[in-house]
Amino acid sequence: HSSEDQAILEAHQWLTKLYHHLLRHSQDGKQALAYLHQRGFTDETIDQFQIGYSPNSRDFVVQFLEKKGFHRQTMVKAGLLTTNDQEHYYDRFRGRAIFPIRNHIGKTVGFVGRAIDGQEPKYLNSSDSSLFQKSKLLYNFDLARSEIRRKNEAILFEGSLDVMAAYQANVKNGIASLGTSLTETHAKMLRRYVDTVLLCYDGDDAGQEATYKALKLLKKTGCTVKVGAMPHEYDPDSYIQSYGENAFVSNVIHHSESDMTFLMRYYKKDFNLQQEGDRIRYVESVIDEIAQLERPIERDHFIRELAEEFSLSLDILKQELNARIQSNQ
Ligand code: ATP
Ligand code: MN
Ligand code: MN
Ligand code: MN
Repeated sequence: HSSEDQAILEAHQWLTKLYHHLLRHSQDGKQALAYLHQRGFTDETIDQFQIGYSPNSRDFVVQFLEKKGFHRQTMVKAGLLTTNDQEHYYDRFRGRAIFPIRNHIGKTVGFVGRAIDGQEPKYLNSSDSSLFQKSKLLYNFDLARSEIRRKNEAILFEGSLDVMAAYQANVKNGIASLGTSLTETHAKMLRRYVDTVLLCYDGDDAGQEATYKALKLLKKTGCTVKVGAMPHEYDPDSYIQSYGENAFVSNVIHHSESDMTFLMRYYKKDFNLQQEGDRIRYVESVIDEIAQLERPIERDHFIRELAEEFSLSLDILKQELNARIQSNQ
């Protein structure tokens, strides 16, 4: 590391401790602590993830880092301070619950700040820097790594709070990208550790879109993909809150669907299946997907399912399928 990177790591280490201390022990942090408790996070989880509170001040961090001897301009690069004129410096995170983001060896390299009183934006991340690159980092990868290896499976969530809620529910192989979609770098990183990725995104339309994109990317990288489906109005965190940890583990994690089952459901949204033309086009796009499956037994399973659902001739569908397999070769 350059000496500048070294300083940035040190500053993050100091701030992680300070923010955490303020959350746990200061009058200032009480509202944030109550907010986290009300969301179901226990003190144990708060300590484990070093969750903190950034005071609602323009220059609390400015003063603190100055006393420690850090250069303000370096701290701007680190994404901890902001400035417009290189003269006046301000804290980036104010009045927020703070979630430290650790790199793969457990060093804090950035923060996620969650508003606790309706402040906008709801989430504020550190800006990208030499040590904090959202396209390369996966939240919680350091803690999850051994469990990911042991299970030969990683669970990918949409948000860091989902990862923590799952962890608290004893699901410890969860990770998340940081408010961005999954990148090829992420996918390759995961492929080095696991065969299978279980996608557990939010149940809303945005979550379904993100699931589709991540699924395609992970398949391209050679992963087996499963999908933990969520009711439309829930995300993993709120699901656990409403239905409990056991329900989450048995209904979502253990009851995940295959990539093909997800795709058959996902494509339906583009078509009006009451109409013959649409129905045929839907069936064709599903056959395209089935043709890409490697194992004959899987292809057989899904082509039968499709024939049955639409009362179509299995022979004809198989002919269509074989024609596509041949043209793919
Ligand atoms: P909540 O705290 O309300 O449960 P969430 O985690 O469910 O929020 P979503 O709106 O589902 O948040 O977004 C998923 C993830 O996307 C968040 O965890 C966060 O990392 C990121 N994100 C959401 N909103 C923003 C935003 N305004 N700016 C940056 N990142 C965001
Ligand atoms: Mn969402
Ligand atoms: Mn969400
Ligand atoms: Mn949520």
